Amino acid sequence: MSHDDPRPPEDEFVRGLKRILQGLQAEQASAGSQVEPSHDGADRAREEERRRAETLRRIREFNLKPREIRDYLDQYVISQDEAKKVLAVAVCDHFNRIRRCMEDPELREQEYTKQNILLMGPTGVGKTYLMRCIARLIGVPFVKADATKFSETGYVGYDVEDLVRDLVKMAGGNVELAQYGIIYLDEIDKIASQPTAGGVRDVSGRGVQVNLLKLMEETEVNLYSQTDLVGQMQALMEMQRTGSFRKRTINTRYILFIVSGAFDGLVDIVRRRVESAPIGFTAEQTTGERTATDYLRMAQAQDFIQFGFEPEFIGRLPVRIACDPLSERDLEEILLHSRGSILEQYREDFRGYGIEFDITREAVEEIARRAVREKTGARGLLTVLERIFRDFKYELPSTSVRSFEVTRETVENPRGTLKELIMKHADSQRDVLRSEINRFLERFNRAHGLDLRFDASAVEALVEESLNSGRTIRALCEDKFRDYQYGMKLVAAKTGNRTFVVTAEAVRNPERELSRWVMENYPRAGEAVKGAGSGGA
Ligand code: ADP
Repeated sequence: MSHDDPRPPEDEFVRGLKRILQGLQAEQASAGSQVEPSHDGADRAREEERRRAETLRRIREFNLKPREIRDYLDQYVISQDEAKKVLAVAVCDHFNRIRRCMEDPELREQEYTKQNILLMGPTGVGKTYLMRCIARLIGVPFVKADATKFSETGYVGYDVEDLVRDLVKMAGGNVELAQYGIIYLDEIDKIASQPTAGGVRDVSGRGVQVNLLKLMEETEVNLYSQTDLVGQMQALMEMQRTGSFRKRTINTRYILFIVSGAFDGLVDIVRRRVESAPIGFTAEQTTGERTATDYLRMAQAQDFIQFGFEPEFIGRLPVRIACDPLSERDLEEILLHSRGSILEQYREDFRGYGIEFDITREAVEEIARRAVREKTGARGLLTVLERIFRDFKYELPSTSVRSFEVTRETVENPRGTLKELIMKHADSQRDVLRSEINRFLERFNRAHGLDLRFDASAVEALVEESLNSGRTIRALCEDKFRDYQYGMKLVAAKTGNRTFVVTAEAVRNPERELSRWVMENYPRAGEAVKGAGSGGA
């Protein structure tokens, strides 16, 4: 990732990094506390509250610089340099404004256009990811929803105001923190109102836009929706307790709204306008080289209005950014260098079984090549990697393989390479199976207070059967020797002997061997095995 601008002075840079680090630590602490069930709920609640207070303090003292935000984003998001810069500036302006309004309440009363953002571009190129990263860096709650949710008739069910209430939930009920949250609405292009046959625009998309407008500007949202029975009851109970009814609302003035979509149809609108411009001659000369993203960058308010947005709606979205599609090279970069990338996740998954893998340059190139064909941006990487690793993840944990290399061949023929890999480890695989046999015996003997043993021929027979059938030793043994404890206990009761040795013959025909043991000691009670079986230990 190269940037043409010079680095900030060292100490400022280091300070910025420290702040980012603090943010990350807070975030890790929060991730941990969400996953691990705490033994002490009160402690956890206190810790979460402390963290929220810390975030609020950071917002009150907000002093990140656009470049620090960009540097943070660079670690996670590949390419999208233009988007990173514009977003970094918009986010800094937004939170600086909040800080200054907190310092000087008079400033609150002055006219100010919020930096709500419109993100355009194909799917899977990092639009949401950019905003998630920013929300995480600052520590504010983040909510994402699809605008199409609201486009159904009458807005029954999910209501645009529910987005704000979700933000409060994400902030653990802390309304103050939720006020500074980020709401991300995807598929916003789907609520553009399409002209109908008579030239009149349909009303549902328009209605949603109008509802959103209020939120995007400033409004008080009731914390409990009409349909939220639990919330209503809580409010009632509070009223009974305190004797007064406190209307609980949240103000949306400082909530940052991001809307996004692919905007395919807009490209044509802009192209037509640009191409029919009077400077047609020069425009035409460059037209051939213009990409869809170039046209999106050239979009003006009039184009959005023609596309089906209300002038007031598009007016509330002063920051407009077009994200680039990701090239093969970008996808390689994501695999190799983006922090927390999907490949890293696979590495962690395999590490869970004590398995490591290396990946060759050619393999990375081939994965990227295949992912591009999926036409789903970085999501294509997920699809391709899943296909490659599916069987590896299933098979390898039960083998002796502790490391492997992902080559181009692995990408092209995952099953074949996996088979080869396992064959190469066949010898050590036998050792793994032998130790699994010992583990079964330990479990069995501990559970029943007996001393079952396998002679060398039995061990080899079990290993062979496991290799040939693909079943685990555990499953094989539990199946074959399922009733052994009953017969063994019967014999032990008669003879006092608790040690029994199984041979290869018994592995092949476990039931016959068990009846033989019993019958030798109880010559006239062959059927005792069955009887003891149902009533035994
Ligand atoms: P969209 O542009 O549709 O909002 P997302 O941001 O949700 O796409 O991307 C989906 C996933 O793909 C992200 O969670 C991230 O893991 C990965 N991804 C997408 N774009 C990038 C990128 N530019 N750099 C690194 N990872 C990316």
